[in-house]
Amino acid sequence: MNNKNYNTIIIGGGAAGFFAAINLAEQTSNHSIAIVERGKDVLQKVRISGGGRCNVTHAQFEPKPLSLNYPRGEKELLGPFHSFMTGDTISWFQERGIELKIEEDGRMFPVSNSSQTIIDCFISLAQKHHIDILTSNNVASIEKKDLWELHTKTDTFSCDNLVVTAGSSPKVWEMMRKLDHTIVNAVPSLFTFNTVDKQITELAGIALEARVDIPQLKLESQGPLLITHWGFSGPAILKMSAWGARELHKADYQFDLVINWLNYLSHQECLESLFERRKNSKKQVGNEWLFDLPKRLWKYVAESVQLTEKNWADCSNVDLQNLATHLTASTFAINGKSTFKEEFVTAGGVDLKEVNFRSFASKKQENLYLAGEILNIDAITGGFNFQNAWTGGWIIARAISTKKREY
Ligand SMILES: Cc1cc2nc3c(=O)[nH]c(=O)nc-3n(C[C@H](O)[C@H](O)[C@H](O)COP(=O)(O)OP(=O)(O)OC[C@H]3O[C@@H](n4cnc5c(N)ncnc54)[C@H](O)[C@@H]3O)c2cc1C
Repeated sequence: MNNKNYNTIIIGGGAAGFFAAINLAEQTSNHSIAIVERGKDVLQKVRISGGGRCNVTHAQFEPKPLSLNYPRGEKELLGPFHSFMTGDTISWFQERGIELKIEEDGRMFPVSNSSQTIIDCFISLAQKHHIDILTSNNVASIEKKDLWELHTKTDTFSCDNLVVTAGSSPKVWEMMRKLDHTIVNAVPSLFTFNTVDKQITELAGIALEARVDIPQLKLESQGPLLITHWGFSGPAILKMSAWGARELHKADYQFDLVINWLNYLSHQECLESLFERRKNSKKQVGNEWLFDLPKRLWKYVAESVQLTEKNWADCSNVDLQNLATHLTASTFAINGKSTFKEEFVTAGGVDLKEVNFRSFASKKQENLYLAGEILNIDAITGGFNFQNAWTGGWIIARAISTKKREY
């Protein structure tokens, strides 16, 4: 049985843990640091992130708009972003030889297009700074004595400062509960919606800007919407799944989704255009599609109100009202959800009220720090989840290193 003491131990060799460890090592001297990791390898999520390319951050360079991408953590991250955010992340990697590039939608990746670049950088910096990486060490319990004491199956480690960056781990949440922290129950976030409506799933591949509502849960969203073989996806849906994660979980993912295929156009505005068309067209409704809607989608809507083969001129007011309703408020029964590109994110974790966001220190225990997904913080897709990990890790390093200088 080993019993080794460090100045700082970090539980969890993921994004937040490595960022905290490296920055702490860079800002201190003679400060012993260990990363204790349960897996055989570290940085496993970084490896698979962004489809193997690692979406490191997002090209949003102001704290306030950046914070709006966090359904949980928006208010709390605003202050920290003034200390370390996107621009700092880009410079940090650049100074260590890694260039990031911006894609059209704002996501940022290493120019190499490989998450291995990020992993190699972290591992070589950890080695350079003599950070002990203790893999295959599953922390089973934590005790607060004069120092922190961590127990794995075979070893005990002790330290002055304990940094917990164990991600969404129910076991570690339970350890935090025993240290007087409140844990907000975990529910999935960032998923797509399923429907058994075959007529709509046959239109898989259609993408357009739309507005989506779930009236019974008072949720709404807007943006690109994608029809898939199993239902609906795209940013409009993913945003809704993140912001409404708790309500949707409560509804057991069974609800009515209302889609306005015309985005911001109201029923009345749509109806006026349809009346106009009735005056001017000799064609059949199914053969003349309006509002720049994809042809297949227009046909589907026209069929839903049995107007495909009717001439515009023969349509009654009721016909056009029905058509306007289907165009601006098509309703679909949603039953279930699917994971988005295996990028599952969890909403839940250590209650944010119990963390001091100037230092990411626990308000419940001295010399305890928490960052990354262990906290009840999560973001929509696009590089924001990693930005949370970098910001938390960096601020913890600053907090511990400045504390040391005050001794
Ligand atoms: C498939 C996928 C793709 C993703 N792609 C992106 C992306 O491109 N961009 C983005 O911003 N976000 C992405 N995310 C989200 C992002 O990966 C996470 O938000 C981020 O990794 C969280 O970092 P973390 O350090 O808090 O936790 P993690 O990276 O999960 O690290 C926690 C570590 O703690 C270890 N651990 C847990 N319990 C113990 C214990 N008891 N003892 C010791 N060690 C323990 C774990 O093994 C793990 O290594 C993706 C997520 C997934 C699942």
